[in-house]
Amino acid sequence: MYGIIATWRMAKEGVELADQMLKNGEVSGKAIEAAIKAVEDFPYYKSVGYGGLPNEEQIVELDAGYMDGDTMSVGALGAIKDFANPISIAKKLSEEKVNNVLVGAGAEKYAREMKFEEKEMLTDRAKAFYRKRKKELDKELKPYDGHDTVGMVCLDTAGTVTAATSTSGLFMKRSGRVGDSPIVGSGFYADSQVGGATATGLGEDLMKGCISYEIVRLMVEGLTPQAACEKAVTDLDRKLREKRGEAGDLSVVAMNCKGEFGCATNIGGFSFSVATKDQEPVVYLVTREEDGHCSFREADQEWLEEYMRVRMAPVEES
Ligand code: ASP
Repeated sequence: MYGIIATWRMAKEGVELADQMLKNGEVSGKAIEAAIKAVEDFPYYKSVGYGGLPNEEQIVELDAGYMDGDTMSVGALGAIKDFANPISIAKKLSEEKVNNVLVGAGAEKYAREMKFEEKEMLTDRAKAFYRKRKKELDKELKPYDGHDTVGMVCLDTAGTVTAATSTSGLFMKRSGRVGDSPIVGSGFYADSQVGGATATGLGEDLMKGCISYEIVRLMVEGLTPQAACEKAVTDLDRKLREKRGEAGDLSVVAMNCKGEFGCATNIGGFSFSVATKDQEPVVYLVTREEDGHCSFREADQEWLEEYMRVRMAPVEES
């Protein structure tokens, strides 16, 4: 078996690429890296890599994480500026013996030493979104409004499971703010004997439940990926509401070492992309029922076209 699952529609092209690589016997680590790079490189996805939205100082600070489920090796980056592919740097860091998690200037120094491609990651389009949002900030605006991290779990034919994330984090975040995405166990987790999971949503809340680790732990207990995702999201959502009065956005996907997959969310509008040996690459739209169960249906052509139209539409600045 082989397979790859990823948060959101934006991962579709990356998933298609990885699917081909896995079919040809490529290892999980290389396939997942290529898939995430495809999302990082696409300028119209405004929450990952090139074209990602900046922080409150109009600086694009990127987070990324990578885990190899064979060895438990982890590499992660927080708040790195001006490098084209944070995922490749995180993956490289996972090969180091120590110093696996680097942030800010230290991360940039490492990336420069390792000769990773440097690139101005702030695009004119992202600047236009920034200007627009600045004006809206006078009006009422939720601190967390609009997100999308790409997170993936990948299984190869040899049975290796990897998990990885890449994001520009929350739009208008504070300088130096790091979300769940580069935090192992929160944004991502992989264990080749079990499977892997990854999350998107409000990092500050996802972290409180170590949600990706929790999903993998539930799969160890025998839950299917779908049941594990639903239980982890429902339990954390309930706990947050009980203890804090509200819960941020929580959305997750998981795949086990048999290539079975699942998803869950506490919001409307979550989508994911997936491909396995038995399943052509597809985008699913997730619906959450009152009781926390989540069902998904294939996105139709109209939805897919509208998605791209909205992503590529000019930024209207009033
Ligand atoms: N989880 C990310 C963060 O808090 C945001 C997202 O998923 O879009 O940085």
